[in-house]
Amino acid sequence: MSDYNLIIDGKAVSTAETFPVLNPATEEVVAQAPLAGEAELNQAVAAARRALPAWSATTDGERSRLMHAIGDALEAHSEELCKLLTLEQGKPMGGFAGLGAGFEMGGTVAWCHATAEMTLDVDVIQDNDVARIEVHRKPVGVVGSITPWNYPLLIAIWHTIPALRSGNTVVIKPSEYTPLTTLRAAQIINDVLPPGVFNIISGDGSLGAAMSSHPDINKIVFTGSTPTGKKIMQSASCNLKRLTLELGGNDAAIVLADTDVAAVAPAIFATALINNGQTCAALKRLYVHEDIYEDMCQALAGIAASVTTGDGSGEVDFGPVQNKAQYDKVCAMAEEAKDRGARFLCGGEPMEGPGYFFPVTIVADIDDDARLVCEEPFGPILPVLKFSDVEDALQRANASSCGLGGSVWSSDVAAATALASRLECGTAWVNNHAMIQPDAPFGGVKESGIGVEFGRYGLEEYTNIQTLQISKS
Ligand code: NAD
Repeated sequence: MSDYNLIIDGKAVSTAETFPVLNPATEEVVAQAPLAGEAELNQAVAAARRALPAWSATTDGERSRLMHAIGDALEAHSEELCKLLTLEQGKPMGGFAGLGAGFEMGGTVAWCHATAEMTLDVDVIQDNDVARIEVHRKPVGVVGSITPWNYPLLIAIWHTIPALRSGNTVVIKPSEYTPLTTLRAAQIINDVLPPGVFNIISGDGSLGAAMSSHPDINKIVFTGSTPTGKKIMQSASCNLKRLTLELGGNDAAIVLADTDVAAVAPAIFATALINNGQTCAALKRLYVHEDIYEDMCQALAGIAASVTTGDGSGEVDFGPVQNKAQYDKVCAMAEEAKDRGARFLCGGEPMEGPGYFFPVTIVADIDDDARLVCEEPFGPILPVLKFSDVEDALQRANASSCGLGGSVWSSDVAAATALASRLECGTAWVNNHAMIQPDAPFGGVKESGIGVEFGRYGLEEYTNIQTLQISKS
């Protein structure tokens, strides 16, 4: 018997089978989640399809009001949702620099309200004696959302609120590692919306694959790994589904010689370690000019020495790595770096269990072709690389199949901006990294994804264009 239910057509639905959800800090079972199969997927898609005509016909003002109401309803349950986030995801409530569960909750509420205020106006491109030509934005239909385990609630909101705002109905599948917060949030959201507009099913990757190839889903919005994104793209061809894919990143940062190390080290540390490094657009490769290389290494190691890692239910800066597979990956990358003779400034050894704990680890003097540099570690471990020539640093930063974010740090903002614009990535920051906001588009180039989220540009991705030509002659 599951402790949670699917929600299909506004009703709680239980399943014959369930799957356990673990607390990554204790490896104990937190709850059983409902395991949906093809039958539940078909029911959810059918409910979303039935609800579509009425929902897409609601006025823009009414949908805006309801998105605000969802933000208010989720905020009213903040404490409960944050506790669930810590239990299943592992992140502490406050955490380092206040970037824990409370931060995710705050972002969730802020994105609801900001998206509620966005509109897609009709674009009149001609209005003369011959014709009036209008460009309208129409909902794509039923949107399938597939989310990962790093920000379960925030990413669910990033996917579904713009979809609903622009008149689509939704079927969401959270990660099998972290389904509980989303299942609970779906109940709260269903208290606000008409039945069938927001449906939730939980299960593993095979359920996501069935969504991607479902003939009655019109769009998939997915955040997760690049290999899974590629599989979704293949399956989506069955009915030419629209896609927004927000995939892996291996963001580089270039720190120029004139940078004030003491002033920027805390921000570099925070944006690399945000969410224990389990953030798609975290700073993951740090290239530092040789003149300040040792100072930067020592400054980062000094901050690392002052932070705590432990069970997120206590007063700690960082929690565990979210799951065993990811933990094993981080451990293997650290081992490979050691075998290559890299210099560990702190950390490097897994902490005693139970729980998937790995300490904050800063690694210097590491080769460009080490796994820790070439692959996305998605954990609390940062490689620091040395450069002497800026063009060489740029070439190394861009030598990646990923292209999510990147940054340049310097006292000379004009020089840093010029260099940042040459980074091959969807967002380039100057003297910052990983900063996002609801009105600025965010997405990846190269193998980091397709399309953008947030703001007007993100909202447009949930629509098809209809050109209306009214002849006057
Ligand atoms: P994943 O891509 O395997 O899983 C993400 C979601 O996709 C989950 O809901 C999963 O059930 C679903 N899924 C799995 N296989 C699927 C398929 N064939 N078709 C459709 N959906 C499918 O990612 P993960 O296992 O959670 O993490 C693996 C790697 O992904 C990490 O090591 C990390 O590098 C990366 N990652 C990136 C982000 C990001 O925000 N960019 C987030 C989480 C993980």
